[in-house]
Amino acid sequence: MKSAIQWCCALLACGFISLAAAQAPDDGTVLEKDIPIAVTEVAPGLFFQYHHAESNNAWLVTDEGVLVIDTRQHPRRAEELLAAIRKTTDKPIKWVINTHAHGDHYFGNAVFKREGATFIAHRDTEGMMKAHYNLEMKRRMGYFRQMKYDPAEVKLVLPDLVYDSKLVITLGGRTIELIYLGPGQNPGDTLVYFPKEKVIFTGGPFSKNSWANPSFTPSMSNWVKMLRTIAAMDIDKFLGGHGDIGNKQDVLAEAQMLEDFDAGMRDAVNKGMSKDEIIRNVKFEKYKDVRNYYRMNLFISSYYVFLTTGKPENALP
Ligand SMILES: [Zn+2]
Repeated sequence: MKSAIQWCCALLACGFISLAAAQAPDDGTVLEKDIPIAVTEVAPGLFFQYHHAESNNAWLVTDEGVLVIDTRQHPRRAEELLAAIRKTTDKPIKWVINTHAHGDHYFGNAVFKREGATFIAHRDTEGMMKAHYNLEMKRRMGYFRQMKYDPAEVKLVLPDLVYDSKLVITLGGRTIELIYLGPGQNPGDTLVYFPKEKVIFTGGPFSKNSWANPSFTPSMSNWVKMLRTIAAMDIDKFLGGHGDIGNKQDVLAEAQMLEDFDAGMRDAVNKGMSKDEIIRNVKFEKYKDVRNYYRMNLFISSYYVFLTTGKPENALP
């Protein structure tokens, strides 16, 4: 029997019914959209907000102010994030890090700009924000409609500061390292490492038990290498842009899944299969219980473009 989550996603994938209109089954199971937002203090003063149906955030509270990672996918959601932060501190918001340029992680920026934060991102993330803002808005129109959010409230807020390979911030005696190991899911993927706390926020490249959209990656092999690199670091908690708190095994499992996806797709393309033939015949069923599997047709379609042209479907210009 299909779980409630798969059932709901199957309906969505077919496009017959919106998530908001889907009726909850009466067997006591919880729909994906109804899984509550959870805040966990993963280390002293370091909070992780996990929202299964949307995207995750983290913030570090210090005596000198607050550092926030990612801002959600609409200013209304960002106001909710700010309210959650205000339950933990009344210190000013000093820094905001945007890990990558997908709208579900930075369309709430305007709220934190109003709070006076300084924004940081990788140079290529700034490039992706400029190049793909309209595409990102388009990708999220269904969500805005469903939530009854006004798209006009979203403003493009670019980073005040960009970096290329590594940037270290000290705030209130705490150390935060922004690390760039090359592109993972996206050009410009920032990894936010808290060395003393043995915690890393991974943004796009790692999400526990979750398929990641491969339409932006210029190098699946670098993405896999990055995951194995961070799995080998002195880290206990891996906070993904989506999904719950992960451990090393979860990171290595995603590396393996991406490697299997890449190998399966290359094999199919080398056999001369068309995109539609791959969609019909190559199912990656070993990973059918992983979040977002219902979008597999889109993933195959995007990655087919990459393998046959050498360029990601949504490239950095
Ligand atoms: Zn996302």
